[in-house]
Amino acid sequence: MGVPKSASGKDIREAYRKLSRKWHPDVNPGNKQAEERFKEISNAYEVLSNDEKRKLYDEFGEEGLSYGFDPEGARQYQEWSDRQERGGRGGSGEFGRYHSFEDLFGEAFDFGVERGGHAARRTFRGSDIESGITIDFISALKGTKTEISMNKAKPCPTCRGTGVDPNSGLSVCSVCGGGRRINVARGPMEFTRTCPGCNGTGRVGKECPACQGNGVVKGLERINVVIPPGVKDGFKLKLSGKGEPGGPRGKPGDLYLTVHVAEHPLLKRDNDDLTMEVPITVGEAIEGRTITVPTPDGHINIKVPPKSQSGQRLKVRGKGAANPKTKQRGDLFIKLLIKVPKTENREAIEAAEKIESLYTENVREGIRL
Ligand SMILES: [Zn+2]
Ligand SMILES: [Zn+2]
Repeated sequence: MGVPKSASGKDIREAYRKLSRKWHPDVNPGNKQAEERFKEISNAYEVLSNDEKRKLYDEFGEEGLSYGFDPEGARQYQEWSDRQERGGRGGSGEFGRYHSFEDLFGEAFDFGVERGGHAARRTFRGSDIESGITIDFISALKGTKTEISMNKAKPCPTCRGTGVDPNSGLSVCSVCGGGRRINVARGPMEFTRTCPGCNGTGRVGKECPACQGNGVVKGLERINVVIPPGVKDGFKLKLSGKGEPGGPRGKPGDLYLTVHVAEHPLLKRDNDDLTMEVPITVGEAIEGRTITVPTPDGHINIKVPPKSQSGQRLKVRGKGAANPKTKQRGDLFIKLLIKVPKTENREAIEAAEKIESLYTENVREGIRL
């Protein structure tokens, strides 16, 4: 705007008014050059009238105004770079959390694309996705294969994720002139960085019409899920590469599935042990008998010992849940429940009275609160 660095706010305002009157599109109808000039003046005024932006401009030049520019990182870089020149410490090639000057620009790479044609998307890793799935109790014990459908981003099939229309011819990038890198002056130092106009490819094309240049489109994706045997409620399953797609040549993120296990009406799980309630008759309890019970591994025969009591637990070794880590299996406990016949039949009452007379102790002995 032709004002000195020391110009006051008033000077800047006046210079702006003068210039904007001269180059305003209303005064220069149809004049493209005037329109461009007016835009430049407006941008400059915005920067100079904004204290914070002006400070960045004075310290770092135009680059300091790029979207995503990190002034703190840039200062660290300059300090590090000064030390390098003096042959001091820190010669590892790294500085702070930044590994190269380009790291300072972050999002600014994408920002530059607007100037030229449409550049291929940057290479970056896709983000991770978290989701959940509910399976039934038995499937959780045995392990299961299932398929889920997720509405998620996938690389655009038209442009193969590059964001550049494959049917448009590529032209030389106007920012770097096809040189892939551009020079960046920072006071006495000069660097080169990947050209933001073409992301270092030297060529630009038209925006892909199928994905508006994003390189990704949303769609249903079917994903095969293999759940190992023995998972507990809340188990986190990692599906590598099933997250959001990355940029071209960039790795996709991962999908983290939280597995919820529905309750079972008969089976309860405690660590890797299972407990199942099994009803038996009065006769089976008194005399003892071999009974057949279902388990997640199929039917088994177990021996109910004579004089069994309601609530008594019988242990079936190794028939519990598998531990997904150790692969070891817990135990299955059969909890006996004595069922009394639902009848008021005379014989039943007589039999009950007979049994009643055989108790040698008070059954509620020791029941105290
Ligand atoms: Zn596309
Ligand atoms: Zn370029």
